[in-house]
Amino acid sequence: MPATPGASAGQILELVRSGRVRTRRELQETTGLSRSTLSLRMVQLTSAGYLRETGQVAGSTGRPAKILSFDEASHLVVAVDLGATHAHLALLDGSGRVLREQAGPLKFDTSPDEVIRSLGRRIGELVERSGRSPSELAGVGVGIPGPVRFSTQRPNMPPLMPGWHDYPVTERLRSALGVPVFLDNDANLMGLGEVRARHPEAASVLFVKVGTGIGAGVILGGRPERGIAGGAGDIGHIRIVPESEGHRCSCGALGCLATEASGGALVRQLTEQGRSVSSVEDVAQLIAAGDPLAVSLAERAGHLLGDVLATSVALLNPGVLVLGGRLAAAGSQFLDAVRESIFRRTVPLATRELSIVLSALGPDAAVQGARHMVMDQAFSPDAVDARLAAREAQPA
Ligand SMILES: [Zn+2]
Repeated sequence: MPATPGASAGQILELVRSGRVRTRRELQETTGLSRSTLSLRMVQLTSAGYLRETGQVAGSTGRPAKILSFDEASHLVVAVDLGATHAHLALLDGSGRVLREQAGPLKFDTSPDEVIRSLGRRIGELVERSGRSPSELAGVGVGIPGPVRFSTQRPNMPPLMPGWHDYPVTERLRSALGVPVFLDNDANLMGLGEVRARHPEAASVLFVKVGTGIGAGVILGGRPERGIAGGAGDIGHIRIVPESEGHRCSCGALGCLATEASGGALVRQLTEQGRSVSSVEDVAQLIAAGDPLAVSLAERAGHLLGDVLATSVALLNPGVLVLGGRLAAAGSQFLDAVRESIFRRTVPLATRELSIVLSALGPDAAVQGARHMVMDQAFSPDAVDARLAAREAQPA
């Protein structure tokens, strides 16, 4: 029986993009389409530039078949990674090659309208300076350090971005740039980037970002599990110390994990002890240099994070737990402490097959994840079918 009966052109492209089919014959077997219908769909896809027939694969019998391919490199994506204090922009092609990058400070305390205007300008310049045509841009992917309600594509009460709740980020950028724009939480995007690059076969991966704050992405079957309001993975605001002993968090509560175990928390703790640090980068450098106080605070932070992650590991039984963000990358002590707490608090069944690793992509995880988000959305079967229909409705 055909696996995708009566496939549309968009569904055919998806089958090719995902690598599930490589030739016309395989397409015909998988979709059950007649030879003539399949030819029609192929003409639609090749004339729009979505699909190519190249090279030849030697068949076991009969004549060699041409290989169907999706030309990822002919499409461009702008990825925008917004941190609490900085913006990292990258122009990539659809295969993940970074063509141009731009990074600089960003202040969320100015109005969202102003931030979006400045971003729109920076994105326009990035494409212009690359020498590539804006018409090659498949879309823009934006990651923010806070929850995103994916159905509305709007930030949902992000503690680090006051004034941005429900702000129409994607609508505003789309009207400024004239291309599709997609928004997600940065830990989800980092997790997506890491999984597609390094753990494509893993069914269940937990990605934890420890930067200024703490956030996590749950990647199930290769896709982020966002929860009903974008709150899945928002572990930074679980209360970890009693209110009476806790510090005030950016979310308004006292004693959150983020106020005790994040890079921001270590900046505060080191400053209280008379050290001159003003950023997570300063803290990371002290840890990397083996400063005893910084290392012991990093170990305490790792243990507290591990205590919270033990519950997540018991709930999900993931195959891989990836630690990312500047604090996680500073030294092995943090990772070791996280691992120790998780193993101490869970049964062997939950951890026997669990790898706990550092992010392999590092600062590039978010932009690669944003690229996957844009390509998945811009070339989804529905999006492709809609564009093909619009193309055909145009007078020749
Ligand atoms: Zn909080």
